[in-house]
Amino acid sequence: MVKDSPKLSYTAAREEVAGEASPSFTHPRQTPHDRLALALAGLLAEGNRPPCGDGSGAWTSEDRDERTMAARACMPCPLLTVCREAADSTKERFGVWGGRDRTQPAGKRKGAT
Ligand code: SF4
Repeated sequence: MVKDSPKLSYTAAREEVAGEASPSFTHPRQTPHDRLALALAGLLAEGNRPPCGDGSGAWTSEDRDERTMAARACMPCPLLTVCREAADSTKERFGVWGGRDRTQPAGKRKGAT
């Protein structure tokens, strides 16, 4: 029986702490929002940011036309799929996620869970 080398484990842990490990770490209980957060962290670590990080506030605007433009601006985002899956998993009802405006009319938002 071959046992894992403690040195290999130590090296892997050290690389992870140093940020040198692959960001593809997964956990059985990882939620879609966890995956989105990890993907966002990876994007930021590369010096990039998603379109919604432009500071405009259009993704959460009360103005539908602004949200429509924001949804279009999502299209080239490398997080598009994981963002959409995260929003689907928690049935988001406000703002633009993954290229979709999920904002419900104000009257339908109250009590939404
Ligand atoms: S897909 Fe998600 S992360 Fe990307 S710009 Fe749109 S809202 Fe932001």
